[in-house]
Order: sequence, then structure tokens, then C-alpha cells
Amino acid sequence: MYKIDHIKMTTPCNRRPGTYMQPEYITIHNTGNPKSTAANERSWLTNPSNNVTASYHIVIDERETIECLPLNEVGWHAGDGKNGTGNRKSIGIEICESGNYAKTLERAVELVARLLKERGWGVDRLRRHYDWSGKNCPRLMNADEKWTGWADFKTRVAAKLQPAVVPVSDQVTIVVNGNLLDQKGTLKNGVTTVPVRGVAEALGASVKWDGESRTVYINN
Ligand SMILES: [Zn+2]
Repeated sequence: MYKIDHIKMTTPCNRRPGTYMQPEYITIHNTGNPKSTAANERSWLTNPSNNVTASYHIVIDERETIECLPLNEVGWHAGDGKNGTGNRKSIGIEICESGNYAKTLERAVELVARLLKERGWGVDRLRRHYDWSGKNCPRLMNADEKWTGWADFKTRVAAKLQPAVVPVSDQVTIVVNGNLLDQKGTLKNGVTTVPVRGVAEALGASVKWDGESRTVYINN
């Protein structure tokens, strides 16, 4: 479920400055909190005890996806400063660590693939929080400290961007007495159809076509 629940412009600590943004990247985060759900992360943005200037566009967990800021407004998630490219030009996605993380991750792969597809972008538009500010985030994609999880994530997203598998070609290659014919046959409903003149002449036969009766005569 994709829920839109934007925080108000009046949210403290300038968490929604309302500044227009034309995004060029998508930045991936982990919440850094194994217990926090998407709903918890959304609530935190408007919790009176929250006194930090930090916000994010989308939070996602195993069940729901919540858009907390419009995707064309600036949020503060990249840690690269007020005028940093991460903050000014990227959509911040917080991947929750709570619950069934494998399921959450699969949902995140699908979400990110959709966002890229909608914009005509490839995985080259994806960034880690780490890329903007050096923070170890999304930390669960760096469990081995080699960012293998990050490479896997991008591979999985890229796979979703591939067009649906096209049917295998119905083209059939024809070889007559060891010689490859230029012309191709076709296989349809279990029947192979070949160009009769090409095959017959390759076999040394003569081919005559009677257009009136639509008949082919093959003689050798
Ligand atoms: Zn982060």
C-alpha cells in the first residue's frame, strides 16, 4: 500500500521547507532502528520531542509505504548541507529495518524500480546516503563492509527495469545438404514452414508457380 501523508509546512525544525525540487537522484537509507516501522518513522517527523532538522520523502516497511514529503520538494536526509546536491536534488527513501526485512527489501526494490521507470531513469540515478556524506547508510547493505548488499540491491532493481521477456523467435534456420540457406523458415503451432523455392532449388529441383490455381510444381 502506498499512502500519501505529507507533513505540514508548519512542522518544526524546518522539516518541510516547501522548497521546489527537480530531483535527479534517488537516495537510499536504512532507518538505523531495528524496531521502527514506516508508521513510526512518519510519526517521528511530527513528534514534539523531535528537535532535529531531518526529513525524508518516503518510508517503507514490510507492509506499507508512506510518502511524507511531496517528491518535488526538498527534504533533509542526505547530510550534505543546506545546498548539498543530495538534499537539493534527491528523493530520500528510508528502508525500515523492522519486521520481515527480506520482504521490506523486495518491496523497496519494486518501489525504486517504479520510481526510476516513471522518470525514464536507470540505476545510475541511485545513491547511498554514504555517497553524499560518508555516513554508513544504508547500513544493512554494508553488512560485510564491502557494500555487497548495495550492489545486489542495484542489480535487483535493474532486473525489474528490463522489458518483459519477449517470445523466442519463431525463425527457423534451414540447412540443405550441409549448405546454409539464406532464407529462413518459421515455426508456428508445431509446423515448420519453409520457402519452397529456396529449398527445392537447393535440392536441384525446378520450381514452377501457377498463380491462377495458386499451385507450386516441383520437379527434378
Ligand atoms: Zn541515511
